[in-house]
Amino acid sequence: MNFNKVLDNVTIYEAGKPIELVVREYGIDPKDIIKLASNENPYGTSPKVTSKVKEIAGNMFVYPDDSMYELKEALANKFEVNESNIIVGSGSDQILEFCVHAKCDSDSKILMSKTTFAMYEIYGKQTGSKILKTKDDEHNLEQFASMYKEHGADIIFLCLPNNPLGECLDKDDVYEFLETIDKDTLVVIDGAYQEYASFKDEKKKINPKDLINTFPNCIYLGTFSKAYALGGMRVGYGIAQEDIIKTLYKLRAPFNITTLTLAAAIEALKDEEFVTSCIAKNFDEMKRYEEYAQKKGFDYIDSYTNFITLKFGDLYSSKEVAQNLLELGVIVRDLTGYGVNAIRITIGSMSQNTRVFKVLDSVFEKLK
Ligand SMILES: *Cc1c(COP(=O)(O)O)cnc(C)c1O
Repeated sequence: MNFNKVLDNVTIYEAGKPIELVVREYGIDPKDIIKLASNENPYGTSPKVTSKVKEIAGNMFVYPDDSMYELKEALANKFEVNESNIIVGSGSDQILEFCVHAKCDSDSKILMSKTTFAMYEIYGKQTGSKILKTKDDEHNLEQFASMYKEHGADIIFLCLPNNPLGECLDKDDVYEFLETIDKDTLVVIDGAYQEYASFKDEKKKINPKDLINTFPNCIYLGTFSKAYALGGMRVGYGIAQEDIIKTLYKLRAPFNITTLTLAAAIEALKDEEFVTSCIAKNFDEMKRYEEYAQKKGFDYIDSYTNFITLKFGDLYSSKEVAQNLLELGVIVRDLTGYGVNAIRITIGSMSQNTRVFKVLDSVFEKLK
């Protein structure tokens, strides 16, 4: 059958492997499997959120409030913007999709870093746009500036901090770069891990209100999937000037967020203490990974997120390491497909990490 030609160039996103798959393929008991491949919060959802969802589960037969009034109000209060500056999506992924489809067609260009969130390229190619990537793996604003000068772009993606590498540009440098960008270029600031970055270093913090007031061509994206521990609920948001939000709304299907999801997100915003305590534990545990890497003599990227990227140089093949870990019940992300000999490990809980170090020891021993 003939399909839309642009789809010939689109690759299918490969999500982190689910626990069920490892059970099926390697016969490992689910309770012995450690899933550290999708940057989920290892401490689970706030108990207050869980009990709220249980409490309202009986309402499932009713369509959700499509105005999403309560959630938008809570987000508007948190970020000190108006409800009209907010759009809510089924994960911030859906907002990324809206941004690309709102702005791009087959004559468009999209500029991004070489090793960054895979969905930018996938959504871009769905519209037949040309994908432009800077040369370095990590975000390099000089390269962004020179490529923009040479080619222009309809959209620029900045992932702050960057998934899957973990690095994060300073806010001041980002602002300096944004000064040079044409007002008709949409700049997407993907803040999926901003809660982690701003906890670790105030210089990384992007304030959405200040961003969109200073640069009306920017949209800030946030998600409940990472620090807020609601990956399974699918909810994220975009914050931008009203003209951008109104346009994105044209692409939205009604009821794109479920009743239970809305309630969970609203409740999660009431329990910031839970989020902060998870983030603090995350960075305590991350130190153990840094020390482990130093001890073993390989590199890691200084991370502003809830994961760490371990680079193996010529010591090991990341593909082999990831495969061996998988067979022992530890799911991580191999970055070979991104052109980097590294694995990305989500920082787990203390007991999970202790086991990961043991399993890593045995894998390195075997591959030596
Ligand atoms: C996880 C993630 C998202 C969005 O996740 P959703 O679950 O769709 O909200 C967006 N960008 C980056 C870089 C991510 O890592």
